[in-house]
Amino acid sequence: MTIVDTRTPEAKRFIPGATGDWEVIIGLEVHAQVTSNSKLFSGASTSFGSAPNSNVSLVDAAMPGMLPVINEECVKQAVRTGLGLKAQINNRSVFDRKNYFYPDLPQGYQISQFKDPIVGEGKIMISVGPDRQGNFEDIEIGIERLHLEQDAGKSMHDQHPTMSYVDLNRSGVALMEIVSKPDIRSSDEAKAYITKLRSILRYLGTCDGNMDEGSMRADVNVSVRKPGGEFGTRCEIKNVNSIRFMGQAIEYEARRQIAILEDGGEIDQETRLFDPNKGETRSMRSKEDAHDYRYFPDPDLLPLEFDDAFVAELAKNLPELPDEKRERFVRDMGLTVYDASILVSEAAIADYFEKVAAGRDGKAAANWVINDLLGALNKSGKGIEDTPVSPDQLGGILDLIKEGVISGKIAKDLFEIVWNEGGDPAKIVEDRGMKQVTDTGAIEKAVDEVIAANPDQVEKARAKPNLAGWFVGQVMKATGGKANPQAVQALVKQKLGIEE
Ligand code: ADP
Ligand code: MG
Repeated sequence: MTIVDTRTPEAKRFIPGATGDWEVIIGLEVHAQVTSNSKLFSGASTSFGSAPNSNVSLVDAAMPGMLPVINEECVKQAVRTGLGLKAQINNRSVFDRKNYFYPDLPQGYQISQFKDPIVGEGKIMISVGPDRQGNFEDIEIGIERLHLEQDAGKSMHDQHPTMSYVDLNRSGVALMEIVSKPDIRSSDEAKAYITKLRSILRYLGTCDGNMDEGSMRADVNVSVRKPGGEFGTRCEIKNVNSIRFMGQAIEYEARRQIAILEDGGEIDQETRLFDPNKGETRSMRSKEDAHDYRYFPDPDLLPLEFDDAFVAELAKNLPELPDEKRERFVRDMGLTVYDASILVSEAAIADYFEKVAAGRDGKAAANWVINDLLGALNKSGKGIEDTPVSPDQLGGILDLIKEGVISGKIAKDLFEIVWNEGGDPAKIVEDRGMKQVTDTGAIEKAVDEVIAANPDQVEKARAKPNLAGWFVGQVMKATGGKANPQAVQALVKQKLGIEE
């Protein structure tokens, strides 16, 4: 049995406890790997899946005397992202050393940004729902900051019985840390937030958003409070690498905290890890041994400065982002917000849709792309980039419907043929005799036959004209779906003596 949660997004924001409702407060720190060919401060490659330690320059290995040199492309990517998040761009920012010891951090410090990040406050609109009325609600989640920093290498403990190995390929790769305000109020909102953030990053081309490959991961801060009360003490769940796990981790963690508080206990501010096998979070380190990173400005690097023209140039070349696209689809193409949201979720889907819709009915195009194309892709586990039906082919099917050459029903069959075998839809219809029958003589014959065979239904339909639809269905069946439905409808009504 599946239990469907029918609570509204509003209601979902509260978790009932023994002492009444609790509110969950969530803030996310997302690490997004910058899309760039080379690392933040060196020329080594960032390609994923290379042989261990093959993408390591002397800078990344922290050889004595090596000096970091900022990669301009990474700076541009961070600014683009800031613009996409409608954020404050800081023309002057500072790189600091964040000192800590880790076997996969040969420098002994991470170059990051602390007091003066490259990007300040911004925002992301998320949409949650549907509620019982089918409505979606747009909620604004504040962005606190975005800063640039280096990634560390990777220790590998499972390669040798007595030794640990280290792979420094990731060492020095540019990351953007995007910190949200504690504005998120449920696991659904958190999932919507990270989904939207990933969509924006992908539209911008600043991060591939691939959580499986670790190019995007989140630290999830969770606390609970009585509605409207003071913020509670938070716990931070480190390195969550899937959207589903993030939802599970929040649900578990919020309930864990509520149970402690309702038992009269206190929450220790600590760092926790999510165990996907158990569906639980467990303590990793408490605040008592929290690090003192001894941040200070990196003496090897000058403050990062650029002028307004640099930002303006990047702003000018920014692509249309999902929110603006959604607005345009609703405004210019008459789509519902819901349909438009689905179509803009990925830039490639939106592009596909726009090609199909060009010069055609937007709503019809949206229906076919969402229900038929995305439905079929979903079922076969394919992404839009692997679609066997091109926009031209789908457009061709729509044209055949519009011109009355095929019925909507035959169009579904035609779609399946094109999906499986490819080919030009018009030619397939021609070759396989799928054209709609508009010849009234043939349709009339079929209508007469159905009427003659069902005298009872005829009686009923005369009394209750709605039942004419049943006859239309029978005639469509009898003609293998090829009769023109409008012609059938008209003939049925005429023969039954039902007024239009
Ligand atoms: P740090 O983790 O480095 O100490 P911050 O204190 O700025 O950094 O907070 C990091 C994240 O924790 C932010 O995303 C912020 O929104 C979130 N956060 C802050 N206070 C709370 C709270 N009481 N409950 C949940 N999240 C919180
Ligand atoms: Mg933190």
